[in-house]
Amino acid sequence: MRYTGPSCRQCRREGTKLFLKGSRCMTEKCAIERRGYAPGQHGQSTGRMRKVSEYSRQLREKQKVKRMYGLTERQFRNTFDRITHQSGVKGTNLVVALESRLDNLVYRMGFASSRKSARQLVRHGHVEIGGHKVDVPSYAVRPGQEIRVAAGSREMVSVKAAMELAARGQPMSWLEVDREKAAGRMRERPTREAIPLNAQEQLIVELYSK
Ligand code: SF4
Repeated sequence: MRYTGPSCRQCRREGTKLFLKGSRCMTEKCAIERRGYAPGQHGQSTGRMRKVSEYSRQLREKQKVKRMYGLTERQFRNTFDRITHQSGVKGTNLVVALESRLDNLVYRMGFASSRKSARQLVRHGHVEIGGHKVDVPSYAVRPGQEIRVAAGSREMVSVKAAMELAARGQPMSWLEVDREKAAGRMRERPTREAIPLNAQEQLIVELYSK
């Protein structure tokens, strides 16, 4: 099941910013900026060193990345299963597969302020690939395919607000974005270094390879 509780609580649980609430995540209102400890009455306790087992480190890393991309356990596991037969570094392949999801790219291109809003935008039929509506958030985008916010949807308040926010920064080197047309494409599959994801994906590979 997808977690539907307060977003900031998930970040506090993982002890890191998961960027689940759009523009709020960039402000001092962010709960991690204000109080970075885990939720619950014992969250602040630092008196005793807790021995963290290898398994729990692997589990926490998986939960963190899964939550960041907003996937259920089944969706996350299916993504992992799909990359297991690919050549190369499994952890990198996993991250690249997550980054190639349509909802993630809509977010990365700045057409939605969070992956959650991107998922809704896609599900509600506001996004096209190569001129055809695609309403499947998990759609695996290939380099060169054009992603576009449908003409009738570009004036949506949420899309305009996200694009205004994104215009303050630069798109990633492996993305090409045309803000005038609300369109973009992945130039190439990103290298791991080009993906701004603070995670040790090798721990997830270890967890799922047991
Ligand atoms: Fe996480 Fe964003 Fe909430 Fe900060 S504001 S705790 S990054 S969801």
